[in-house]
Amino acid sequence: MSEKTFRLYDTMTRQVKPLETIEPGHLRFYSCGPTVYSYAHIGNFRTFLTADLVIRTAKAIGMNVTYVSNITDVGHLTQDDVADAGGEDKMARALSSKEGEQFNNVWELAEYYEDAFLDDWARLNLLAPQVRPRATQHMREQIVAAEQLIEQGNAYETPSGVYFNVESFPTYGKLSGNTQENLKKGVREVVLDENKREQADFALWKKDDKHLMQWYSPFGWGFPGWHLECSVMARKYLGDTLDLHAGGEDLIFPHHECEIAQSEALTGKPFSNHWIHTRFLQVNGEKMSKSLGNFYTVRFLLEKGADPLAIRYALISGVYTKPLNFTDQSLSDAMGNLERFKRSDAAVAAGIEAGRPGDDLIGANLEELYDQALDSMLNDLNTSVALAKALEGTRVILRDAESMSAASADSGKRYLDRINDLLGIVRPEHDLDAHQSHAPVVKVDEARIEQLIADRNNAKKAKDYALADQIRKDLDAEGIELRDTPEGTVWVVKSAL
Ligand code: AMP
Ligand code: ZN
Repeated sequence: MSEKTFRLYDTMTRQVKPLETIEPGHLRFYSCGPTVYSYAHIGNFRTFLTADLVIRTAKAIGMNVTYVSNITDVGHLTQDDVADAGGEDKMARALSSKEGEQFNNVWELAEYYEDAFLDDWARLNLLAPQVRPRATQHMREQIVAAEQLIEQGNAYETPSGVYFNVESFPTYGKLSGNTQENLKKGVREVVLDENKREQADFALWKKDDKHLMQWYSPFGWGFPGWHLECSVMARKYLGDTLDLHAGGEDLIFPHHECEIAQSEALTGKPFSNHWIHTRFLQVNGEKMSKSLGNFYTVRFLLEKGADPLAIRYALISGVYTKPLNFTDQSLSDAMGNLERFKRSDAAVAAGIEAGRPGDDLIGANLEELYDQALDSMLNDLNTSVALAKALEGTRVILRDAESMSAASADSGKRYLDRINDLLGIVRPEHDLDAHQSHAPVVKVDEARIEQLIADRNNAKKAKDYALADQIRKDLDAEGIELRDTPEGTVWVVKSAL
């Protein structure tokens, strides 16, 4: 590993500080992923790109990175900006919308938008995480965590759910400044539930036997609170303490504040040693968001003729610690700059092919520019300077492109390869034709289902209708629907209906 230091702003300590890893040279990094109820917009991708650039920069100085980024497919409610989220589940609401009509059920909707998301992800040259866990596939872990928090006295059950008691966690508010004291002063409005002990207590489990996605738990039918998934999945794949945790600025509170409370109460250890948050992508000075309707999707811009790498270029052109305005002009500037990289790439390929004799006249200059670009990235991801340095390199390459020696062309190629590794703006990195959709949401184990159907029939014969019903509901929660027909019980995979 090189001696270089990677410095990043830390939301917790409110200062730029070196990114330190528990295990030398190995970064364990968790970044909150999308809620797959609709197409992700390019604002979401601005945040995912920050994570991508962290990984590329860390790798450029020789670090190993284990990167986990989740898919939220249950539990994210429409009024999620308050401690105890209220409103409807975003997934369920999407199904009942006009767009949702094309889907038979909420599982199918999640699968469709997850596929679309992965496609956009690959087009924008984002590196794949080692693990991309889904909330619905970590139900057991979430239920166990809620039970443990109740046992420890950090959580309690009411007729409507299980709540984390913020009073039991004295440092609640340390990330966002939304301490209990401040919350009581009305800094943040919170949804009132008369059974809650404290206004700021937030849900670990919502009881709801009418919900489209429900699981059976010791607290009855229902679904987990949104924050819990990240606590259990981060711990499962990265350990008790992370080196770095990331998300968009709106996640500081309540999402990350609540993740910290849950995780630290569960493990007794710090949850993450460093926190970074990306400021919003804006349109006309307003946050780009689905609810405001002022958003662009990647596919919309592609249909308008944008190159996906130009979208990437425009989205990383401003530093992540400042809001960025997205305009037609920023996209067309990015298209122009991207063109220079493409021309340089073609020029060095032609130069290598031509094999002209002569000295390497550009290598030293390009080396220096690469170092400056890397140093800018190491300085709290200063993408605007890094891109300017990278672009200067194209000027060096294109200056004598026609007569370039093979030695110069080799240096040019090495430069562009390294710039692409660092910033991902020279050429596509994914073979999109080979890009496979994710595995089916529902894993089918036919023998087990047949056995459960037999168990259910036996239960019915023994007049144990509660057990029979339980078996049906359990399978349903896994995405397997049982249908009783005159010929007997048949089963169908709901997402393949
Ligand atoms: P969601 O799909 O709503 O769970 O959001 C996914 C990620 O996108 C989260 O980290 C959000 O903080 C982030 N995000 C949402 N809107 C924007 C925006 N306009 N600019 C940057 N990041 C955003
Ligand atoms: Zn999260």
